[in-house]
Amino acid sequence: MAEVDLVRHFTRLSQKNFSVDTGFYPLGSCTMKYNPKVNEETAAMFGFTNIHPYQEDETVSGILELLTNFEQYLCAIFGYDAFTLQPAAGAHGELTALLMIKAFHRDNNQETRNKIIVPDSSHGTNPASVSMVGYKTVVVKSDAHGNIDIDELQRVAGDDTAGLMLTNPNTLGLFDEHILKAADIIHKAGGLLYYDGANANATLGICRPADLGFDLAHFNLHKTFSTPHGGGGPGAGPVGVSKKLIPFLPGTKSKKSIGRVHSFHGNINVIIKAYTYIRSLGAAGLKEVSENAVLNANYMMKRLKEHYYLKYDRTCQHEFVISGKWQKEKYGIKTLDIAKRLIDYGFHPPTIYFPLIVEEAMMIEPTETESKETLDAFCDAMIAIAKECETNPELVKNAPQNAPVKRVDEIKAARAPRLRS
Ligand SMILES: *Cc1c(COP(=O)(O)O)cnc(C)c1O
Repeated sequence: MAEVDLVRHFTRLSQKNFSVDTGFYPLGSCTMKYNPKVNEETAAMFGFTNIHPYQEDETVSGILELLTNFEQYLCAIFGYDAFTLQPAAGAHGELTALLMIKAFHRDNNQETRNKIIVPDSSHGTNPASVSMVGYKTVVVKSDAHGNIDIDELQRVAGDDTAGLMLTNPNTLGLFDEHILKAADIIHKAGGLLYYDGANANATLGICRPADLGFDLAHFNLHKTFSTPHGGGGPGAGPVGVSKKLIPFLPGTKSKKSIGRVHSFHGNINVIIKAYTYIRSLGAAGLKEVSENAVLNANYMMKRLKEHYYLKYDRTCQHEFVISGKWQKEKYGIKTLDIAKRLIDYGFHPPTIYFPLIVEEAMMIEPTETESKETLDAFCDAMIAIAKECETNPELVKNAPQNAPVKRVDEIKAARAPRLRS
């Protein structure tokens, strides 16, 4: 095979991919913001790429200083007393935190606490992490405004409660109006509050989970702090804790430590990128990130709610959830069809069918890095598709019409996967 043919083959393949660098990617809960290239330049500096964790500390004082400063920035931004930088992803952070919650209760002779409460809007990783540590999940439903139902929370919280896992703003993009009350209920019952801060894009410089009563939390650097993700690539999900949980942190000399959850200091390459992002924006810049993320989401929600059903109609935070319910009832068109049609318009579809409590859900997260022109172009496409549902439903049902890959047989892909060619 000639080199030129090989190069053309792979270059052509790479151009069939969609990415944040090629288009708008409003995948709710995933925060597909633009990744500034300066982050990559910093992480690629010779002094960072050509060191080894077994080197003597005094020969790597630069990276150690960076990690220490980074931990302090996270403490300042989120209100915690210490962080572990080891976890390699959000779900890994959840596991780490739940192991600490378990160790904390064991240390207090409260091992009988074995239930974690989550709302029905919770991210799928939450109950999964709960089972991984051998706890049981108790699901509490959301109220009519999209908050956790406070009366039901009061009913289920008790002697067997190990903790509550909550995302706030939640996966509906809504800030829980009763958060202080919820924190009080859990603390009075003897449980701990865990904040799933995978996506903290609405709150930087505005409110801190520790101040709301959350005892520990994880944060995805590969979402809020602009390090690349997707395709399972390396991430980082540092976990912050309040004072009483410091002895349980992984990888310390404390006898109560849960032990290591990752080799050495975690994915430091990802941390360098997030550090660069924080340093280049500064405190005022980070606050502006959140203000613009929230503004962009509300702008789009307002334009789209005329054309798509909006179950929870109140000011949203960094994302919002609309629904294809009207299109399904009137024209038999599913949200999946609408998502596929968006590909024809040159957009990555939003997250669909999640959260589970909104039928035919479309979860849209524009992020702060998009221009008004891009937001309008996406809204125009969504509105055009709503019209097509009326005038040419077959066009929407058979989308995408001009993508390199047409619809895959999702049932066959799940039932009879061909994992090698
Ligand atoms: C993305 C996300 C997670 C999981 O993070 P990973 O890095 O993908 O493991 C957990 N909770 C919420 C709310 C998320 O958006």
